[in-house]
Amino acid sequence: MDKKRLRIAIQKSGRLSDDSMALLWAAGLSISRSKDGLFYRVENLPVDLLLVRDDDIPRLIGDGIADLGIVGRNVLEEYDEANGGPGTAKSDGKVLYSLGFSKCRLAIAVPEQTGYTSAESLAGLRIATTYPGLLNRFLKAGGIEAEIVAMHGSVEVAPRLGLADAICDLVATGATLEANGLKAVETILECEALLVGTGKPITTEKQQIQDRLLARIDGVLASRETKYIMLNAPLSALPDIRKLLPGSAAPTVIPLEGSADMVAVHAVCRESVFWETLEDLKGAGASAILVVPIEKMMV
Ligand code: ATP
Ligand code: ZN
Repeated sequence: MDKKRLRIAIQKSGRLSDDSMALLWAAGLSISRSKDGLFYRVENLPVDLLLVRDDDIPRLIGDGIADLGIVGRNVLEEYDEANGGPGTAKSDGKVLYSLGFSKCRLAIAVPEQTGYTSAESLAGLRIATTYPGLLNRFLKAGGIEAEIVAMHGSVEVAPRLGLADAICDLVATGATLEANGLKAVETILECEALLVGTGKPITTEKQQIQDRLLARIDGVLASRETKYIMLNAPLSALPDIRKLLPGSAAPTVIPLEGSADMVAVHAVCRESVFWETLEDLKGAGASAILVVPIEKMMV
């Protein structure tokens, strides 16, 4: 193993893969795909990508085989539970960034006809899940005695098979639950993709590459939310317009050639800019309003 190259574990194929690759690409990594499909080499930085199943990512980081990884909160926390809970020697994964993609929730669902009032209604039920650690944590915290039926997949069919009375599974739109006649009754974890690092020391060379990469990822995440607004406005409307600009620091105000009472206002807005905001700005006297995406930023 090349100790000078930073290793990042990402999901080989599935719901995390495309967005993980897109993030690294946006951070300027030029990735060349290898034939074996396990390692991808980054040409312009000393970085290698390790393409694996998402469930293996926490262990690869814990064992020091990968330095960074992109994985869902559900997988990271389940690994922690299975290995003695967060903060133990085994589970050294440190969350560096919440990445904002692959959002879903881990929820408990019961057949539509099942009466349900509160978490106590789960007492005495058999609950099927591929997340026994997280389900156990939830039940224990609520003092609920229920039986955990650990499965490896297709949890949603367990009630129809007579294997369980309820399930605990990932839900995004709820379409799978509906198709199986189930309703979600409790959310036990909100999940999204996380950039995870090792809690253990890494070599100075690797640390330097990591710091550089993290600064770029920081920039990518910030610029995704950030827009650049340009508009013209009468000088007198400036106080109102400043109040309307979403999440912006002091805007740049530039005089407009040939009109003494008109100015151009340029601002970086760190929040989404909605049509309503543009309408309000226009109402306050702004004209020629432009909202442009920011490709890269470093603060
Ligand atoms: P692998 O073959 O790598 O083990 P997988 O089948 O376990 O893949 P995917 O279905 O690709 O995993 O999901 C990866 C992650 O995407 C999940 O762990 C979860 O964090 C997230 N995710 C987002 N939306 C959903 C959803 N609707 N259902 C399941 N997972 C989702
Ligand atoms: Zn998986």
